[in-house]
Amino acid sequence: MSSNSAYHCNKYLRVAIPTPLRRLFDYLPPTTPAAPGCRVVVPFGPRELIGIVLSLETSTDVAADKLKPVISVLDQEPLLPAQVLGLCQWTARYYHYSVGETLMLALPKNLRQGKPAFYGTVVHWFATDWFATDSRQEKPSPRSKKQSAALELLASNPEGVSATELKDLGFSQNVLKALEKNELAYTGEPTPQPFTHIKEPLKSAHLQLNAEQAYACEVITSGLGGYRTFLLEGVTGSGKTEVYLQAIAATLAIGKQTLVLVPEIGLTPQTVRRFRDRYAVPVACLNSGLNDGERLQGWLVAARGTAGILIATRSGIFTPLPHLGLIIVDEEHDGSYKQQDTLRYNARDLAIIRGQQSNCPVVLGSATPSLETLHNARLGKYTHLHLRQRAGNARPPAMALLDMRRQTLHDGLATELLQKMAMHLDMGNQVMVFLNRRGYAPSMICHDCGTLIDCPHCDAHMTIHRYPPHMHCHHCDLQQAIPRQCPGCQGRKLRPVGQGTERIEQTLSQHFPNHPVLRIDRDTTRKKLALGTMLDEIHSGKPCIVLGTQMLAKGHHFPDVTLVAIVNADAGLFSADFRGCERTGQLITQVAGRAGRGNKPGQVIIQTYNPQHPALQLLVSNNYSRFADSLFAERRHLNLPPQGYLALVRTESAHPQESEALLMALRQCAGEQQDDQVTILGPIPAPMEKRQGRFRWHLLVQANNRNHLHRQVNAMVSYLESQRLPRQLKWTVDIDPQEMS
Ligand code: ADP
Ligand code: ZN
Repeated sequence: MSSNSAYHCNKYLRVAIPTPLRRLFDYLPPTTPAAPGCRVVVPFGPRELIGIVLSLETSTDVAADKLKPVISVLDQEPLLPAQVLGLCQWTARYYHYSVGETLMLALPKNLRQGKPAFYGTVVHWFATDWFATDSRQEKPSPRSKKQSAALELLASNPEGVSATELKDLGFSQNVLKALEKNELAYTGEPTPQPFTHIKEPLKSAHLQLNAEQAYACEVITSGLGGYRTFLLEGVTGSGKTEVYLQAIAATLAIGKQTLVLVPEIGLTPQTVRRFRDRYAVPVACLNSGLNDGERLQGWLVAARGTAGILIATRSGIFTPLPHLGLIIVDEEHDGSYKQQDTLRYNARDLAIIRGQQSNCPVVLGSATPSLETLHNARLGKYTHLHLRQRAGNARPPAMALLDMRRQTLHDGLATELLQKMAMHLDMGNQVMVFLNRRGYAPSMICHDCGTLIDCPHCDAHMTIHRYPPHMHCHHCDLQQAIPRQCPGCQGRKLRPVGQGTERIEQTLSQHFPNHPVLRIDRDTTRKKLALGTMLDEIHSGKPCIVLGTQMLAKGHHFPDVTLVAIVNADAGLFSADFRGCERTGQLITQVAGRAGRGNKPGQVIIQTYNPQHPALQLLVSNNYSRFADSLFAERRHLNLPPQGYLALVRTESAHPQESEALLMALRQCAGEQQDDQVTILGPIPAPMEKRQGRFRWHLLVQANNRNHLHRQVNAMVSYLESQRLPRQLKWTVDIDPQEMS
């Protein structure tokens, strides 16, 4: 192949490219070398795409005249280390997804777009060598006291000082420019030091651990340097975070980094502050609230070993950490660890894989572990650690059910509940009211003919919102004016039905005019600082009513809340999803856990129309473990996870019949090769068949063994990929689905 001789290396580059095709592509190498993990620009059909080199090969199946050369190499050093490449390849295989698209998830947007990997936006100042040399005669000298002082500062900070910091210290741009003109100072990229340079990583003292915490911490840290998964099951307020913090100390002591994954809404500034207050090493943070520049910065600080700790949400699992020594997944049961579109991965599960690859311990922490994790602990795959006591002086809250039947209700709140709230507020305490539904009311009905206002694009009612007034579909985001007339009978008696947080806020404000009502839901916290301001007000300790959705359930520590009220526990208990009951139990236990975390005892009141429901009975006896047992029995009976394994094939199309027809054909084809270890159920319409104007259908694959499941899904995906489908007909595969919606 004479055309190849121009290239100094006769290997082929095997490149992962962001296309849905589940395969890799070979290219001729460019003149500059490109190692695995580097980004390259390659021709792909008529386009140029950014791909990532996975390996160098000595042979290829591609015909010589079809091979094209790489256009350019974007990184001199690998951007993604072998570990992350390996994790992404594992992920792509397990979730039956394209490797190229999986790798793109591992990169911050700027790098995905081909921008250079450096801390571009943050200008730093440095002293030049001139200042250090001793040949005094030739050396230009600073012209003013201010210049001298600036120069001294720069010289004593060889890693550079940021322009913002200099400005804060009172050095004007003019002073610095003058030094630059005399070749005494220059600007450039910061050269951060690895965290291991910090001699004393501890900034403030650890708390004295109680016996259970000390034992857990000891067992976890004795596992450093090898893979092992721990389930740290600790009741709410038992001090799991303190165990994490002290396990991190041991990890830093051996020069290793810690990755802390937290749920989407758990990553508040308060969470990060807890880590930064304890440690002097840089703590990087990756969450959805960052802009692209901040995200790149956080990623680089972690990837270059400058940060000792990375706190991140779901996608943080793919961040390069050259010295990874410990992985913590807080609130491991949380639904936000599972991505619900495109690549439907579960970061909690990938944490186990990453721990195995990096040979480091993985800690899964929760007060309400998922059944999957409890199952693994019971099988002995995970080491089960318990924190049964609340830390410090806090006692477990007293839980009670409030039978709503035949009670006088004020917009869904029983008189008895309002009286209890008044008592707690009068004693100077705070009260929390939980309702997992935002807006004013979940539907609107015509009092004359019974017509409900529905979304034209979804099988769903429109939610009424008051601030600002409009109708909103929470499924497709359609927003409309509030109708004056019934679309059915033109009548004018349209009434809101049911309660959302806005309506309860109004009722509570009328009932308790002397106490502030702080509503915390997605609508009131949309602005970046809004949540922080409200949290500060709660932490001030003044009596108030905190009203909110599940945003309130996670992690928050409000020592002055003594009463927690759950407005309606019933909705989730009768959900169509087999995980409905598990989720409701977790939510109730987590919300209840917000009560009585300080020195004052806590009380929890759960309103229900089904006080005899066995699941509720177990939950109010504060016994999550027996509650979980009852769910296990049910799942075993039905062969559902964690007993068996599931994959869900979804189709959707604007044409009502297409989705069903494709799954029928798929089922037929699968039936021909099906083994008896696999059960295929469906096709059935999704619980909400029509959503955003698209008709959605499901085919469920059930197996007792993962290998059988994957073999079946592989055959199905191959079939689906081989079909020429109309554009509007889409299919997706979901391994270990969390939501059956
Ligand atoms: P969890 O995450 O298990 O719900 P946290 O870690 O938030 O609990 O701890 C709850 C409270 O208990 C926090 O205010 C924390 O500072 C305090 N705490 C934790 N461990 C101890 C301890 N050993 N002694 C005293 N207070 C502690
Ligand atoms: Zn809709």
